[in-house]
Amino acid sequence: MHIESKLPNVGTTIFTVMSGLANQVGAINLSQGFPNYNPSARLQQLVTEHMANGDNQYSPMPGLLSLRERIAEKVAHMYGAMVSPDTEITITAGGTQAIFCVIAAFVRPGDEVILLEPCYDSYRPSVETVGGVAVVHSLSAPDYQVDWSEVKRLITPRTRMLCINTPQNPTGTILRASDMAAINDMLRGTDVLLMSDEVYEHLIYDGETHASVLRYPELYARSLAIYSFGKTYHNTGWKTGYCIAPPELTREFRKVHQFNVFSANHPMQAAFADFMAEPGEYLGLPEFYQQKRDFFLQAMANTRFKPLHCAGTYFQLFSYGHLSDEPDLDFCKRLTTEFGVAAIPVSSFYSDGKDEKVIRLCFAKTEDLLEKAGKLLERL
Ligand code: GLN
Repeated sequence: MHIESKLPNVGTTIFTVMSGLANQVGAINLSQGFPNYNPSARLQQLVTEHMANGDNQYSPMPGLLSLRERIAEKVAHMYGAMVSPDTEITITAGGTQAIFCVIAAFVRPGDEVILLEPCYDSYRPSVETVGGVAVVHSLSAPDYQVDWSEVKRLITPRTRMLCINTPQNPTGTILRASDMAAINDMLRGTDVLLMSDEVYEHLIYDGETHASVLRYPELYARSLAIYSFGKTYHNTGWKTGYCIAPPELTREFRKVHQFNVFSANHPMQAAFADFMAEPGEYLGLPEFYQQKRDFFLQAMANTRFKPLHCAGTYFQLFSYGHLSDEPDLDFCKRLTTEFGVAAIPVSSFYSDGKDEKVIRLCFAKTEDLLEKAGKLLERL
């Protein structure tokens, strides 16, 4: 039997590869992005209570209304956005599933989707699975600034969507009000949709504010914004997130979502709804993670790596071109096996494998681990 792959160039994700290698050799895993600490005990207890109380069957397809109501309150408070829990918010099985549904709901074979690389590695395969064509604007180290006039040149009559991510994985850069204004001007008068991946919305430092699309009504009208409970409440394995979009876009999104997963984890949703009634935990996140970023930079200060600026996310980039000219994937594997610290090569976020000799380390870890990683890397 001949199997014609829809994704001939795709292997196993770099996150699975590097976490696998880290586990195999017992290295400190700063590769895949996830915390090594637990979610709040109260939140865990709420999940257990909801399981005991029988919330173990399907939730409503768009998600529990009580949770959607809490989210509507949150985005009103954070971004001044008035969104309807009923027609504009859908609970998903994590950010990645939401991203896939956004793309599958709107991108037809031959449609073009503009990506700003380096970007999260699911975007391009999602586009290609549904027959779309990724059109790439390639950003460069060390500042990864977007040239919107260049992006504008990529827009054709076939352009269906632009994907943005702020704060951006893996670069740690953020978009600001001026970027959002440039996007708004660029897309005005077109039928181009905006997929705005905002899963790191609270992980933003040095007093900067998150430029959510929800703040900009004209832009929001063509947008689908993606969020993640995993990043906010330290439970990436609970695989719960949400998508906020105007009613006409949400209607189409749900058509795909209902046949993709139908609905997300019920007891987790119920627990989040209770937990979010006491607002506040996420308000402390910028400070919590900024402290980790600074601690990690300090722990790495005696190594020969050069840090790039991290304005957001829980990823810190380092360049090593002055230390070695090994390709970044080989370098990361060697760091893991010989030095005991696993990292992600940034070339894996570029579809052409652009290698600027930059690696990504995740600092969502306890201080003992960050300190140990710094010590191990001092030997290089
Ligand atoms: N978003 C996380 C990262 O970039 C990992 C997600 C995943 O493993 N699929 O590390």
